[in-house]
Amino acid sequence: MTISSLVKQYVGQYPLEIQQKVQALVDDARLHDFLVERHPIRHAIYGDHELREYVMEIKNHYMKKSSPLSKIIYDDKIHVIHNALGLHTYVSRVQGGKLKSKNELRVSTVFKKASDGMLKMIVVHELAHLKEKEHNKAFYRLCVHMMPDYHQVEFETRLYLLLLEMKQSLYES
Ligand SMILES: [Zn+2]
Repeated sequence: MTISSLVKQYVGQYPLEIQQKVQALVDDARLHDFLVERHPIRHAIYGDHELREYVMEIKNHYMKKSSPLSKIIYDDKIHVIHNALGLHTYVSRVQGGKLKSKNELRVSTVFKKASDGMLKMIVVHELAHLKEKEHNKAFYRLCVHMMPDYHQVEFETRLYLLLLEMKQSLYES
């Protein structure tokens, strides 16, 4: 079976056997149904205000001592499709000639129409970056601490992005 470049782009780092299963879902037009079965309900975190409350609840529970977040918003300029999960919290700005880092948590608007699990996975990922900038072992340990099924949901979130890439959406509205 040939793995398409699109499938490789999203799940290329997983074992070949998994890539083949994903390719089969795509080829048989079953990706949507597969995802809906696992994530039947869309979340209700529609706006920035709700997003802030949602993020702060997780942050206060697991990462109370982490640096404060100046801004928590949905951002339609994040090219998550091309960037897969390389969403980055850490915004560097030049201020007064000095490079100053500012902690913002931005979630791509493509996650407005995702499931609660997928939104949580993205938020957990971004919160973990407050402590660990690199995607290293300590980073993933932190993610799993906040969300025990993190790895499974990250995989399914990649499939969700793949679905969007194929101009399909997960839920009706
Ligand atoms: Zn990251």
